Amino acid sequence: DGMNAQDLGKLLHREPAEIIKKLFMLGMMVNQNQSLDKDTIEVLAEDYGIQAQEKEHVNVSDIDKFFEEEENNTSYQAPRPPVVTIMGHVDHGKTTLLDYLRHSHITAGEAGGITQAIGAYQLKQDDHLITFLDTPGHAAFTEMRARGANITDITVLVVAADDGVMPQTVEAIDHAKEANTPIIVAVNKIDRPNANPQHVKEQLMNYGLVPEDYGGDTIFVDISAKNGTNVDELLNMILLQADVMELKANPRQNGAGSVVEARLDRGKGPVATLLVQQGTLHRGDPIVVGDTFGRVRTMTNEAGQDLESATPSTPVEITGLNAVPEAGDRFVVFDDEKTARAAGEERAKEAQMEERKQNNRVTLDNLFDSMKQEDMKQVNVIIKADVQGSVEALSDSLKKIDVEGVNVNVIHASVGAVNESDIALAKASNAIIIGFNVRPTPQAKLQAETDKIDVRLYQVIYNAIDDVTAAMKGKLDPTY
Ligand code: GDP
Repeated sequence: DGMNAQDLGKLLHREPAEIIKKLFMLGMMVNQNQSLDKDTIEVLAEDYGIQAQEKEHVNVSDIDKFFEEEENNTSYQAPRPPVVTIMGHVDHGKTTLLDYLRHSHITAGEAGGITQAIGAYQLKQDDHLITFLDTPGHAAFTEMRARGANITDITVLVVAADDGVMPQTVEAIDHAKEANTPIIVAVNKIDRPNANPQHVKEQLMNYGLVPEDYGGDTIFVDISAKNGTNVDELLNMILLQADVMELKANPRQNGAGSVVEARLDRGKGPVATLLVQQGTLHRGDPIVVGDTFGRVRTMTNEAGQDLESATPSTPVEITGLNAVPEAGDRFVVFDDEKTARAAGEERAKEAQMEERKQNNRVTLDNLFDSMKQEDMKQVNVIIKADVQGSVEALSDSLKKIDVEGVNVNVIHASVGAVNESDIALAKASNAIIIGFNVRPTPQAKLQAETDKIDVRLYQVIYNAIDDVTAAMKGKLDPTY
């Protein structure tokens, strides 16, 4: 096991609680005993270094004071509702399911139902709340994760029973696995005459999703999102899974969490949907959101009702920020506005630091150095090829590479062009993309350039394997 906040605290002569809170500021939620990855430790160390130098200019000690005040509460933990994301292949019924749920189980219903799409909503099943993120699609999900927000507890994978496992089904599985969220399979469209839910089960076993009646532990529910058949059963299964996970948070500390979506409204100014993940968010709270700041001026739920406070797992729409943050940005509440402003400005600096980190993305060219510097145990790779045979050949050969105990971890491999979802996954997992007889889509190409993702294209499998091996040994010929 690596170093945790406690160890790091000793090293940096700081209280572990302060380290944890500092990590919060940097967009990471950890507990004392969780081991930290090398990246995190470096960013943190660098951050403290920078602070030490600039202490006279920015009143950083105020920010630290905020953290100290928070620290006494961290031991208190209360159960919180699960946060669920729905993923799956296009047309398999994600939107239909979200719409059905919105209409059948709304909590805000008493006051006239959900009146606005704010990117997330809560519903009630037998007195238990479930939060749904209203933005289906694994690309958005992984984009957020790439920005540091891990806001999904459970993934519901929708697979149409008349269509079976399709390319985006596989993408969704890999994205969920990389994010370490358990998957519940909703086999949809069972009302269709040509529905074959059994076939879906058999197909998914090839991807490690083994149903309970086959000795596995993946929950499968046959549903019709259109008719609402078994949707209650699906919700009960989500609650069951949530129960097993013992999801908890501390509502007694200052609010903290992530941005689900944000926009500029002509009348209201910057508007952001926040998911509270820790503590309680109150109207009037001074707040830092990404590198924006302000005071929570208005706070409403998906029904447009005003809220005074919001506890963990509650999505709310707020106004009062000085600028528009980005989806996936983290937020924290401060005790006063002055500190919030100072912290907001510090966050802007951290954003620059993050950009520098982005320049350190793993590529074949810097692979050898990265492996040494970051003590890498595995090289993450995504494979895209024109035919399944090549996908498997490449994947099998790459997995066999072993350079001084470091090997290749294929996090996603499928047939098709390199798409934006691949870029998002590569970004979130610091992976290299290898394309065989395929090209990136124009959008993916642009995105790869922006995010500095190394996309390598080959026509000869051997060359790909040769390059990766050479790169891991530090003997890759420069391509320019
Ligand atoms: P998405 O792309 O995954 O969001 O898929 P949609 O929710 O837009 O659904 C695609 C199509 O499948 C629409 O025409 C839906 O009406 C239809 N559909 C979704 N769920 C069901 C279902 O349970 N049964 C049937 N028969 N059709 C469904």
